[in-house]
Amino acid sequence: MEQAQPTDAGAISVAGDDAVLPFAVEGLDVRGRAIQMGPALSALLARHDYPLPVSKLLGEAVVLAVLLGSSLKFQGQFLLQTQTDGPVDMLVVDFRTPGDIRAYARFDKERVAAMQEEGTLKPELLLGNGILAMTIDQGAHTSRYQGIVKLDGASLEDVAHAYFAQSEQIPTIVRLAVAEMMTREDGGPAHSWRAGGMLVQFLPQSGAKHRDLPAGDVPGGHLAEAENDAWAEATSLVQTVQDHELIDPEVPVERLLYRLFHERGVRVFEPSAVRDQCSCSRDRIEGVLRGFSAEEITDSIEDGEISVTCEFCSAKYSFEPQEFLG
Ligand SMILES: [Zn+2]
Repeated sequence: MEQAQPTDAGAISVAGDDAVLPFAVEGLDVRGRAIQMGPALSALLARHDYPLPVSKLLGEAVVLAVLLGSSLKFQGQFLLQTQTDGPVDMLVVDFRTPGDIRAYARFDKERVAAMQEEGTLKPELLLGNGILAMTIDQGAHTSRYQGIVKLDGASLEDVAHAYFAQSEQIPTIVRLAVAEMMTREDGGPAHSWRAGGMLVQFLPQSGAKHRDLPAGDVPGGHLAEAENDAWAEATSLVQTVQDHELIDPEVPVERLLYRLFHERGVRVFEPSAVRDQCSCSRDRIEGVLRGFSAEEITDSIEDGEISVTCEFCSAKYSFEPQEFLG
């Protein structure tokens, strides 16, 4: 995809919502991807109807998974999963190339409500302590890759930084923002979600030969001085972005990138669309049930039928028990 003709970010049409936009800033030796999410995220979160803070947290995880998963060069799957001891004890985001996402959260209603009442509710506190695992699966011909990073009350942004410092050794900065939007429509006030995110990585062409030099105070890297300066400039620019700018429908991603990096020559590549699309199907679930023993089938019968609800998209599938007891 990145072989596509690059364009000057100041002068092009916009990728629009729900499309990942790869970019490069050659003057700073950085590459990255940015996105604004609207309808796809809104539809995904609306279907679950979680408490607001849980939706917001899952929204952040979705944006992070999209930014990371969209780097897959071949057909494959990127799975982001948390396992923690907080009120939200599990988040799962499943990204499949070229851009299908599905996600769900598992949480304790009462603990979330209690935190909301106490007013101590921050997305990162919902998770608590545990781990975040990222798994890349690119099919039968490649080995499965899994990276694990500790979660201990830090935000998902910080966790992403720790992950890249630890397992990829690529200086990386990630920004994530999610907000609930209230708009007035004909039928009264309407509710929706918007999110924005940006992942920026330092990938100097000459990087390899500098790796032995003493480390600077830049997280995650061993950078020569000139490189230190370039990466310090890139990170400080990215840190100037306010959360509301990341999600602002009036500030498309291209414009934001141009505003940040135009002095260093930012170029953007072909965007790729992200869809709210589950991969469950009647056939697939039927296949799972066919593997059940007669006893397991009998145990699954309720009100004369076997009913299975997809955790990811809440779709309901009903089966006649007789189909599996023949
Ligand atoms: Zn589903």
